[in-house]
Amino acid sequence: MSRLLGIDLWIKRDDLTGFALGGNKGRKLEYLLADALDQDARVVVTCGALQSNFVRQLGAACSVLGLRCAAAVMRSPYPRGFSYCPAPVDPAQGNVLLDELLGVDLRVYPDGPWEELYERAEELAREYEERGQRVYRIPIGGSSVLGAYAFYQAAFELRRRAHFDAIVVPSSSGSTHVGLAYAFYGSPTNVIGVACDPEPDLQDDLTELSIQLEHLLGLGRPIDGRYLTVRFEFVGPGYGLPSEEADRAIVELARTEGVFLDPVYTGKAFAGLMAMAREREIRRRVLFWHTGGVPALFAYPDSLRAAARRRERPERGPIEGHDRA
Ligand SMILES: *Cc1c(COP(=O)(O)O)cnc(C)c1O
Repeated sequence: MSRLLGIDLWIKRDDLTGFALGGNKGRKLEYLLADALDQDARVVVTCGALQSNFVRQLGAACSVLGLRCAAAVMRSPYPRGFSYCPAPVDPAQGNVLLDELLGVDLRVYPDGPWEELYERAEELAREYEERGQRVYRIPIGGSSVLGAYAFYQAAFELRRRAHFDAIVVPSSSGSTHVGLAYAFYGSPTNVIGVACDPEPDLQDDLTELSIQLEHLLGLGRPIDGRYLTVRFEFVGPGYGLPSEEADRAIVELARTEGVFLDPVYTGKAFAGLMAMAREREIRRRVLFWHTGGVPALFAYPDSLRAAARRRERPERGPIEGHDRA
């Protein structure tokens, strides 16, 4: 893939973090669930899309620690003000099957705006509280300041080893991106978030999280909001909706490196990386932070099969300057 893109590509394999089929949420959970245990919680309540990777890893972590995990989910939640387009997602496969294996109390609500999903999660938390159980609430995607702290820590795994000109990471609930951006702020490494949600509010969420992280760390080093770069042009039709570019990136990376991406987050971010490398917006040594999500592949069989078939009969020529024969 380095040769194909004309960059020195490295991949941080957080898809292989090891716990409950891997992914970026495992790092956040180390801190979030320590906090839940400190507060003597018996139940952890969160929310997400039906194919949430966070719910899967949270469900596993709760089960290991003897906590109940409950999640309010919608098959295809959408941003208020955007038109509703249901994701072509298999409601029973992928992460949902794993949630069932893990015994998650998964409450599936009819699709609605994200704000409505957050209200359903709050109702669910109160339901457990009315039964006399102490509840620990976790915002969507584990993006409290502790989630950002986990990725601030994760960044130090890299800094010791190599210098990167750019780091490309998917950005959705924002704490992964913010933690990394904070750690590299003031260094020559440019951290680029690729949005997986079309809402421009993401930019405000990132700024807010970075302020909270700064307070937590007490380093007196506020981050300039302009450094929290998010690229919105690779979202495709919307959150959780497949894009041809992402699906093509999934097929390309699988066939060149044997590394699988997912259709909701990393496929889109990697499609962004490929486009930015071709435009020479990112150069030299580039790190792709692979945040996982691979179980969701199995919930999107139709769009992925179509992408695999398109790849058999490429309509486009070889990538410029390279003979792929
Ligand atoms: C949750 C998730 C992300 C986004 O991380 P945030 O910290 O929520 O921005 C990216 N990739 C995968 C696979 C995820 O599950």
